[in-house]
Amino acid sequence: MAKETTIRCSLCNRDKKDVKILIAGVNGHICDNCVTQAFHLIADENLTDNSTKQQIQNSLNLLKPVAIKEKLDEYVIGQDDAKKVLAVAVYNHFKRISHALKNKEEIEIDKSNLILVGETGTGKTLLARTIAKMLNVPFCIADATVLTEAGYVGEDVESILTRLLQAADYNVETAEKGIVFIDELDKIARKSDNPSITRDVSGEGVQQAMLKLLEGTIVNVPPQGGRKHPDAKMIAVNTKNILFICGGAFDGIEKKIAQRLNAQSVGYSASVTKEEIDKFNLLQYVSPQDLKAFGLIPELIGRLPVITYLKPLDRSALRQILTEPKNALIKQYKQLFKMEGVKLEFEEVVLELIVDKALEFKLGARGLRGICEAIMTDVMYELPSEEKAPKTFTITYEYALEKLKTAKMSQLKVA
Ligand code: ADP
Repeated sequence: MAKETTIRCSLCNRDKKDVKILIAGVNGHICDNCVTQAFHLIADENLTDNSTKQQIQNSLNLLKPVAIKEKLDEYVIGQDDAKKVLAVAVYNHFKRISHALKNKEEIEIDKSNLILVGETGTGKTLLARTIAKMLNVPFCIADATVLTEAGYVGEDVESILTRLLQAADYNVETAEKGIVFIDELDKIARKSDNPSITRDVSGEGVQQAMLKLLEGTIVNVPPQGGRKHPDAKMIAVNTKNILFICGGAFDGIEKKIAQRLNAQSVGYSASVTKEEIDKFNLLQYVSPQDLKAFGLIPELIGRLPVITYLKPLDRSALRQILTEPKNALIKQYKQLFKMEGVKLEFEEVVLELIVDKALEFKLGARGLRGICEAIMTDVMYELPSEEKAPKTFTITYEYALEKLKTAKMSQLKVA
């Protein structure tokens, strides 16, 4: 009787009958399962190395500072100075990463983390978000006001990176190239000039805790955010190549700038126009000293070396924001109506009315949305159920005025 020979995969030892294909080699066999696994392993290895380099190279090739600014112009109205500074910082950031990949032992280029100083609703978050979308990197927004020093009630600073990890679908390598926007940085300014009197857990303490995040070290991040739990499994994230963009209104910083410049302080008795012009002129001179005088600790300022400002939005900027950016509010409403088969039109005076109200509420462009919603809610509620919807619906001045009169004021102020 012929001796039964069982052919098996030399790697996993599976029997020939348990696999689809068994490939013969000189001294052994390999099954289709092992081939597939080996293929994925090799592909992953190549991908991580090459795709990082490739992505950075693509970003560098495609997005020169001028091109970055042009792209920002499509979404953000005005703020040319901030756009330029941001474009250069982002470009340098990618150059820095690509330089580090190529020349491991040469000069290290510092990170270009930024601070954007400007009133609420002037486009700080929008700028950061647009940049992240453009670069196709994970992006998250964190609010500095909810952070507290480790050990106190509130969120630890590491939770900021949890959000970034979530935005990157927990792919650590992708998250490590992301952009974090930390809003309301001014709210963690040191409250008193003498830090030793009381513990300042939500101010200076948080600034201290943020240092290690910004400087580029390995941070252990709780996967679910919130407070660190002693036995929760941590994810190690290297913050070296994460770009941090911080924003804040820094209310009253003009006075510090004025003091420093030895200029006449902004007088509240001055007329509104004068006050606005002064404010605008002074903010553009914002410097690290002013941020220190405001209550940021020097170490934190040192890790946020690029500072720029956003102008308060005037009437014409608000009017442009309504209709010009790629995702302009009015364009969005028109699109929503188009999906119902209705052409939506606005009388020019309605747009002026919306801007007037936004200026009245002093919420920058944030106010526009609430005002539009107040005007549009009724028609968006009724129109889809109408048996015979009109082909065109025009928002007239009278219609808008009436809706605004009946709208709750609180609704209008919602950002
Ligand atoms: P903040 O400066 O408070 O971060 P945001 O960027 O969140 O302000 O702006 C709030 C909203 O106002 C944005 O979603 C955007 O629609 C609009 N907006 C603000 N500034 C601009 C701008 N300069 N250009 C276009 N839209 C803007």
